[in-house]
Amino acid sequence: MRQPDMNKMNERTTVTDAAPIKTLPDAQTVTEVQHYTDRLFRFRVTRPASLRFRSGEFVMIGLMGDPDPKTGRQKPLLRAYSIASPSWDEELEFYSIKVPDGPLTSKLQHIKPGDELILRPKPVGTLVHDALLPGKRLWFFATGTGIAPFASLIRDPQTYEDYDQIILTHTCRDVAELTYGRELVDSLKSDEMMQELLGDGLNKLVYYPTTTREESPKMGRITTLLEDGTVFKDLGIGGITPETDRAMVCGSMGLNTDIKRILEGFGLHEGANSEPAEYVVEKAFVG
Ligand SMILES: Cc1cc2nc3c(=O)[nH]c(=O)nc-3n(C[C@H](O)[C@H](O)[C@H](O)COP(=O)(O)OP(=O)(O)OC[C@H]3O[C@@H](n4cnc5c(N)ncnc54)[C@H](O)[C@@H]3O)c2cc1C
Repeated sequence: MRQPDMNKMNERTTVTDAAPIKTLPDAQTVTEVQHYTDRLFRFRVTRPASLRFRSGEFVMIGLMGDPDPKTGRQKPLLRAYSIASPSWDEELEFYSIKVPDGPLTSKLQHIKPGDELILRPKPVGTLVHDALLPGKRLWFFATGTGIAPFASLIRDPQTYEDYDQIILTHTCRDVAELTYGRELVDSLKSDEMMQELLGDGLNKLVYYPTTTREESPKMGRITTLLEDGTVFKDLGIGGITPETDRAMVCGSMGLNTDIKRILEGFGLHEGANSEPAEYVVEKAFVG
């Protein structure tokens, strides 16, 4: 399987020159940056040759902070980031928020190809296949940048080998905030190498986007749409059961708590790397 063709995307800049000499500890070189909205962008960086990770995991990345006014010394400013690219990709992709006064993202949003990024090569996380018991249908529930680990997992062949159906739900306030996920799903469905994995009619991967503020074909919080049965009616599915369904959840604290309650109500139990079960959860951000 090769990297999906994303040439049609806008505002994209790339670098093809040889990587510059690295000056930061654990430095990688930015190879591509693409802005979607004033709050969202994605970027790709070189991958350390020694970095092995499981699709869905996160790492600590960052930049050097401002110099200390007294000593002039700079310390790395690091934050947790899900790796949005799959484990087979020769580069690493990240999908990021831009928090206006955020210590890291107020700087990170200005990175350009050729710039350096600090990347601590210690991947961890619960949104991995190993943390789930075998099942038939896999749900990915994401809000906002919580789609990042699923952007990795929907590009991983194992996802399609392990399950009969994969349903990716993504909820954002506005339509433009869905662009990254929508273009990724479209690119997978038009990728010849993916046809076999996605099955007849490419129906193995189902994309279910919703918005909570701006008008769109499907509006509402995913929790409401699950509780009132709209999702099941729309997808022609009887419901969620512990016998067939597995789920991974990545959103705000509130979303995670609400979906956990709903999934437990369907009889699913939370798993972990050490004890696989029927669903797993990770915070998309703290706060
Ligand atoms: C396990 C894990 C994985 C993460 N993966 C990603 C990722 O793939 N992409 C990503 O953009 N962020 C991700 N984050 C959040 C990330 O670590 C930082 O919080 C974010 O980059 C902002 O950094 P900052 O220093 O600018 O602001 P911070 O001081 O870290 O955050 C300031 C405030 O901004 C809000 N905020 C922070 N991150 C987000 C976000 N992603 N979406 C909406 N509001 C937010 C919160 O209210 C937070 O209190 C992840 C966090 C965790 C714990």
